[in-house]
Amino acid sequence: MTATEQPASQLPPATILGYPRIGRRRELKRAVEAFWAGRLSEDELVATAADLRAATRARLVGLGLTAEGGAVPESFSFYDQVLDATLALGAIPARFGEQTGSDLATYFTLARGDSEHQPLEMTKWFDTNYHYSVPEIDERTPFAARPDSLVAQYREAREQGIETRPVLVGPVTYLLLAKASDDAGNGFDPISRLDEVTAVYAEILRALAAAGASWVQLDEPALVSDSLRVPRTEVLTLVERAYAALGGAVERPRILLTAPYGDSAAAATRLAALPIDAVHADLVRGDLPAAALADGSLAAALADKQFVAGVVDGRNIWRTDLRAAFETLGALQAAGINVVVGTSNSLQHVPHDVSDETKLDARLKSWLAFADQKVEQVAVLAKGLAGESIEQDLAEVDRVLADRDAAPGVHVDEIRARVAAAGEPDRNRVTEGERRDAQRTLNIPQLATTTIGSFPQTPEIRKARASFVRGEIDTAAYEGFLRDEIASVIRLQEEIGLDVLVHGEAERNDMVQYFAELLDGFAVTEHGWVQSYGSRATRPSILWGDVSRPAPMTVRWSEYAQSLTDKPVKGMLTGPVTILAWSFVRDDQPLGDTASQVALALRDEIADLVDAGIGIVQVDEPALRELLPLDRARQAAYLDWSVGSFRLATGGAGAGVQIHTHLCYSEFGEIIEAVDGLDADVTSIEAARSRMDVVEPLGDHGYSRGIGPGVYDIHSPRVPGVDEQTELIRIAAARIPGEQLWVNPDCGLKTRGYDETVASLKNLVTAAKAVRAEA
Ligand code: GLN
Ligand code: ZN
Repeated sequence: MTATEQPASQLPPATILGYPRIGRRRELKRAVEAFWAGRLSEDELVATAADLRAATRARLVGLGLTAEGGAVPESFSFYDQVLDATLALGAIPARFGEQTGSDLATYFTLARGDSEHQPLEMTKWFDTNYHYSVPEIDERTPFAARPDSLVAQYREAREQGIETRPVLVGPVTYLLLAKASDDAGNGFDPISRLDEVTAVYAEILRALAAAGASWVQLDEPALVSDSLRVPRTEVLTLVERAYAALGGAVERPRILLTAPYGDSAAAATRLAALPIDAVHADLVRGDLPAAALADGSLAAALADKQFVAGVVDGRNIWRTDLRAAFETLGALQAAGINVVVGTSNSLQHVPHDVSDETKLDARLKSWLAFADQKVEQVAVLAKGLAGESIEQDLAEVDRVLADRDAAPGVHVDEIRARVAAAGEPDRNRVTEGERRDAQRTLNIPQLATTTIGSFPQTPEIRKARASFVRGEIDTAAYEGFLRDEIASVIRLQEEIGLDVLVHGEAERNDMVQYFAELLDGFAVTEHGWVQSYGSRATRPSILWGDVSRPAPMTVRWSEYAQSLTDKPVKGMLTGPVTILAWSFVRDDQPLGDTASQVALALRDEIADLVDAGIGIVQVDEPALRELLPLDRARQAAYLDWSVGSFRLATGGAGAGVQIHTHLCYSEFGEIIEAVDGLDADVTSIEAARSRMDVVEPLGDHGYSRGIGPGVYDIHSPRVPGVDEQTELIRIAAARIPGEQLWVNPDCGLKTRGYDETVASLKNLVTAAKAVRAEA
């Protein structure tokens, strides 16, 4: 070893927390789906996965991570990292019975269910749009270490000549993300099994150590969240308990504990004091632990440990301000801390490689960094910390950032002036009572029936869109097709007997991308795929400049739909928060400022819809809950701008215009006030699976406007019968007055087929009529 090399036990100076696993061309998606369809054998799937892992490791080393010492994380997953942990802990819920197939078959059965078993539930991972499979734990869930696949991947890498760092969701986060299984006793909380689970983690660590692993990474994002079942201070205590046990284990790799997705500054010294070997902090979302740095307590607590400084943003696609990041790193180093340069979180939330984009504007492209570019940035910063000159790299980024700042479209005076001029009056409609009176002309009955917007996206619709994109059919032909589609959806809704109709959204590939393509200030990528769950990926648009609406976006479709019927047709828009949440958003100004720009574009769209004779407009905000900061201290400011932007979008609608909104979930506890604050005339929400549980809290809160709790679970092809839906409507009607109650499905119907959709909606209308007659 030469003098400048690190001792073998140290983590090399540059690392990342994880890397996208779907493959640059979504190879994993294709392989996994082919396996599910029986077109690929398990051996072939396993071989494809191994090839992908090998390519990833080689690439990471090529981009500047060290091949030795655990700098390269082994973050592959066939489906989901939480599900991986479930398997590694042997925590198969009893309801799945004896699983006799291969481990991989069991894994996919848990993920996707089979003819006899519902899959594990899926829910959003912290404040991201990634979904994990929720573990189900009860008093009797068996735990037994199953380190085989972690060990096998570690060995596979070693044979490739690369010493990886296995990555696992940590025990505290695992149990706090788990739910009590249906078999659990009253009041059981999975976290009560922490000591047993920690013991199993210790066994897994022993197996990894025996295989030769020098490092392991345990992710504990629970440390940064105020939205879990236990308060954050208690999460820290639980982490201390678990890692005292893990750290004390004799045979184990060195442990890196990570705290991605938020601010762990308040916990920094206590985490540093754990008997482990390295601690990570997200310094993009979180703050530097300034006080503990200044008084030397952080450095003292870290003593012979390493600190992985997450200075490169793993949630966004912009080139890092390297000079600012380098300053942060320098401050840590100057305080006597042994710093490793890292990312704020796993790069699983960003696409693979900017250089794959051939159609993006070259100037915009020069501002961007996808996963591969972020790895390079980490490597450059590490060189700088080691004393090499990186001035050229810093200057290059300075130039890029200045160029971005000055580029046409990034700051547009008219747009900014309009946002600046928008005041409170623009966010306030007339009183609820006045609106209710004015809206009587819409002639909407009690327990009005409607849908959430989309009708089935049939293979024909997808085919027509693909042909249009490829230039095989012209605009006239494509638009003719869409009109026919709208006409048939309107006819169908009239036959079914719904009260408020929709045009069906056949023209939309995606509820955000559709608008991104029509608004100025956005760009779309070719290969910018990001895993959303399992084999599914989305391609978020890039919001890079000031946003404006060059032309109406939805008006002709809604207007055409309305021309075909005497029933009211709802206009259908995606709200500002959701447009931001499902895009990569510029990081050079507060999100609230960007949201206001989007809101004004939507405000103009609503005005145009109303001018075209549309009396009801729905503005969907399914992501309102998702963007809620994990950190309670930051929530009020978020709710302020998010609710404000919705109100700015809808505040121009006259009293007679009925504004609807749709939220996709039923966990309202934390944001009930915000939902009320949207001031929509009607709010539709998911409720069928929880049997209307959400209606009560809304009622208790004094929610006085319309509510449409879903009475039909659209997440499966099952057709809910008349009795079942009648029962749910009755439950809701017992909790809120009939004039407030709407009857609708849980969410849009785009993923459903027509047969089940028609049958379910007919039952819904029959059920609503039945309950109406009871009144
Ligand atoms: N209007 C959209 C639809 O029906 C809403 C989808 C959503 O909330 N995710 O598809
Ligand atoms: Zn929804």
